[in-house]
Amino acid sequence: MKIVVQVKLLPSPEAAAVLAVTLPACNRAADAVSVVAYETGTTSRNALQKLVYARVKAEFGLAAQPAVRTVKKVVDAYATLRANIRAGNLGPEGSRRRRRAESKPVVFRPDAAQPYDDRILSWQHDAQTVSIWTVGGRIKGIRYTGHPGQLAMLAKYRRGESDLVHRDGKWFLIAVCEVPEADRFEPADWIGVDRGIVNLATTSDGDNYQGRRLGRYRRRHAAKRAELQAKQSRSATRRAKRRAKKEARHAAHINHRISKEIVAVAQRTGRGIALEELSGIRDRVRPSRDQRATLSSWPFHQLEEHLRYKARRAGVPVIAVDARYTSQMCPRCGHTARHNRPTRDAFSCRRCGLAGPADHVAGVNVRNRARSAWVLVNGPVPQRA
Ligand SMILES: [Zn+2]
Repeated sequence: MKIVVQVKLLPSPEAAAVLAVTLPACNRAADAVSVVAYETGTTSRNALQKLVYARVKAEFGLAAQPAVRTVKKVVDAYATLRANIRAGNLGPEGSRRRRRAESKPVVFRPDAAQPYDDRILSWQHDAQTVSIWTVGGRIKGIRYTGHPGQLAMLAKYRRGESDLVHRDGKWFLIAVCEVPEADRFEPADWIGVDRGIVNLATTSDGDNYQGRRLGRYRRRHAAKRAELQAKQSRSATRRAKRRAKKEARHAAHINHRISKEIVAVAQRTGRGIALEELSGIRDRVRPSRDQRATLSSWPFHQLEEHLRYKARRAGVPVIAVDARYTSQMCPRCGHTARHNRPTRDAFSCRRCGLAGPADHVAGVNVRNRARSAWVLVNGPVPQRA
């Protein structure tokens, strides 16, 4: 499976200055190539390359390989545009948006990402440096940093092109790793995972991953952000943006940690992971008004994505089950009522008296649903009479 890894470059000021003129040069060249592609209606990479190759090298100072990459970037951009038009993403034929997109060449931002292949970018994993082509020649020994796990993956599995990206004054390389997947095992049982706002995830084993600290963190950030936005100065807006990004990074980190732990337990115990179908989550939690903003911004989706890809790598099966009433149903007697859940945290069955933490009970219900769903999926095919 493909996993995208991002590393941050730490160029010297001199190297950064050369990189800073390299991207705009590549994109000016891309714009020129794009005009030719548009005017001649050329969609084939080879044909377009024949038309523009000499000019791109002479006029924009690109070496042979960057010139080839730039042509491919333009061809890919038009292919994406055509796919979007076909999929109706730009509206029906004749719509204003679609006409605008079709009536002029594709244009590239001056700092749009530039693809690099192994001939113009090499990685020295032990030294944690790259050697990279620029308009000022090849620069060697640019250091990079990243998450240790991601760096290990990069050293082992990186394949094909990487993108040079300039964002908020910082430089990144985005590389693709082709990571082998384990064969999916036949689960001996399931771990039910209940997702919520206060407890981000609670499993049927009773393990819970709290969001209380995260909730405080988010509220503090939201307040600070509102304060900054009220000032409405440009520097305040910039600071607010930076805060939002920091928050997103923190949430991603938490989701990464939770999913890693759950997948590790599943793998160790030979069990699959059962999740509620996401569409059910909003209906189920019935958030109060101030929670609603939290819910819409909390990356539930991201937790699921992390869980799914980590599970896939580890060969752990994942199943999604119906989320209805998982928080109100008694896992022992099946009695389902809102009264079973007198408070947000507590479950107490009105019929049989089973009591426990509500999120744990919900996790158990998710697990039980996975057990029956798995039997149905994998059961013998019914014979027609
Ligand atoms: Zn009961």
